[in-house]
Amino acid sequence: QYAIEAKGLTKTYPATKTSPAMQALKGIDLAIPRGSIFGLLGPNGAGKSTFINILSGLTRKTGGTVKIWDRDIDTNGRNARAAIGVVPQEIAADPFFTPKEALDVAAGMYAVPPNERRTDELLAALGLSDKAGAYVRQLSGGMKRRLMVAKAMVHNPPVLILDEPTAGVDVELRRQLWNYVLELNRQGVTIVLTTHYLEEAQELCDQIAIINRGQVVACEPTSTLLRRM
Ligand code: ADP
Ligand code: ADP
Repeated sequence: QYAIEAKGLTKTYPATKTSPAMQALKGIDLAIPRGSIFGLLGPNGAGKSTFINILSGLTRKTGGTVKIWDRDIDTNGRNARAAIGVVPQEIAADPFFTPKEALDVAAGMYAVPPNERRTDELLAALGLSDKAGAYVRQLSGGMKRRLMVAKAMVHNPPVLILDEPTAGVDVELRRQLWNYVLELNRQGVTIVLTTHYLEEAQELCDQIAIINRGQVVACEPTSTLLRRM
């Protein structure tokens, strides 16, 4: 049973006036086990974000298949989103909302019934209870980033995907985010994260796939991979 299964997944960005067509994914085969913390490691431009954007329905695949929790992603990519929460790289500010309101909006988008919303619990888990009534624009960068994680979890998905969760993040916040990811995983959530820090993958992941130039060049348990490096 896999959380995510890609077979021969390809993505070519079409040519524009200023740039030729770009084959960002050249046939990705990946099987991400349920319950794991799975790292996608690779240099800038390797295709990590493209892969994640296909999973989240932001980008359409060109070829191949991807399943999320046994459901095939169809061509417009939006049918499988209920099973995943995605924390994007960029912080979306929601400047005129409070964290509580931002979570309610997110829950509404996923059609979570009001009596099943866990807003207070999520705010507490991410250390945001004190700020539940402040405006999001008044929060520190670290708090905004934690709010992004809370928003990704409002519909209680079995899979959480994080795109470069700690890029540009200070040591303390990095620890906090890591601890929360580990805690979610203990509760049974499958975690998929991209990173270009080997150390982050090493610290968190049970399995690592190395992606380079749109291809998976290695995919192994973290311990065996590190022994060869
Ligand atoms: P990453 O840190 O994952 O490499 P990038 O900075 O490359 O992210 O890309 C940030 C955003 O810009 C992404 O949404 C990506 O799809 C888009 N992007 C990246 N490269 C190009 C490009 N050559 N043309 C248009 N959009 C791009
Ligand atoms: P990574 O996340 O590993 O840094 P990306 O998936 O962002 O890699 O990018 C993979 C390749 O696809 C890069 O060469 C990038 O410039 C290109 N690319 C990404 N997004 C776009 C886009 N929207 N349009 C054109 N090219 C893109």
